[in-house]
Amino acid sequence: MIDFHCHVDLYPDPHWIVRECTERRIYVLSVTNTPSTWAVTSALAKGAPRIRTAIGLHPQVVKERHREVELLTRHLPECRYVGEIGLDGSPEAMESMSLQEEVFSLILSECARLGGRVMSIHSRRASKRVLEHLAQCPSAGTPILHWFSGSKSEVAEAAGLGCWFSVGPAMILGERGRALVAEMPRDRILPESDGPFAMIEGRSANPWDAARVASTLAAAWETDVSSVWDVLRGNLARIGSIALGAGV
Ligand code: MN
Repeated sequence: MIDFHCHVDLYPDPHWIVRECTERRIYVLSVTNTPSTWAVTSALAKGAPRIRTAIGLHPQVVKERHREVELLTRHLPECRYVGEIGLDGSPEAMESMSLQEEVFSLILSECARLGGRVMSIHSRRASKRVLEHLAQCPSAGTPILHWFSGSKSEVAEAAGLGCWFSVGPAMILGERGRALVAEMPRDRILPESDGPFAMIEGRSANPWDAARVASTLAAAWETDVSSVWDVLRGNLARIGSIALGAGV
C-alpha cells in the first residue's frame, strides 16, 4: 500500500500510526507543515524504512511562519522530498498571497539550485498561479500536485509541465473529482490520504484509507484493481528513483 501525502506528526498518536504503517507495509510520504517540525517528524520514522519525511512550509501558515523559510533552505541539501508547500487562494489565506508567492518561489529556486527535489504541492483555489510558478522554474524538480481541484484543462497543462498527482479518498467522493482523476496521466498518479485533515465517513483518514482510490482508478481506467496496483507500484518505484537522483 501507498500513502504519498500524510501528516503523520499531526495524528493524536503518531507512534501508533508509524507502527500500523510498518505492520501493514505501507510506503508513506510524511509531509510537514513547518520546517521547525521536520526534525521531530523525521525522528518518528526512524526504524520505519518505508516512511520518507518531507520538509515543508504550508501556505496556510506562511503568514505567521514565513521566516522559517530560512530553516527550510538550510535543511534542503539533506532532504530528497519537499512538502507540503504551495499556494492557498481560499478567503482565509488570501491576504497572505503575496507572501505565499514569495516563499513558494524562493523554495522552488532553492530546489532548482540543488538539482531538483520531489515536491508535494498544495494548490487549493490557486491552481493557475501554482502552475505559473512551476512553469517559471522548470528545474525545481518533480512536482506532485496533491488533492488537485483545478479544471480539466489545468490537469492537461500540469501534465505538460511534468507534474504528478496524488489522489485521495475524500477527493473522489464527488463526480467532479472522479472526472478530474480520469484525466490524470496513469503513469504519474500516487494514492494519498491527507490524514488527519481529510475526513472520510465522519473521521480522520488514516494512511491505509489511501488504498480506497484503487477502485475508482479501476473504474476510470476500465481495468481491475490488481492491474491498478501494478501501475501504482511502478509509479512508486519511479518516483523513488527520481528522488534518489536528487543527489542528497
Ligand atoms: Mn496536506
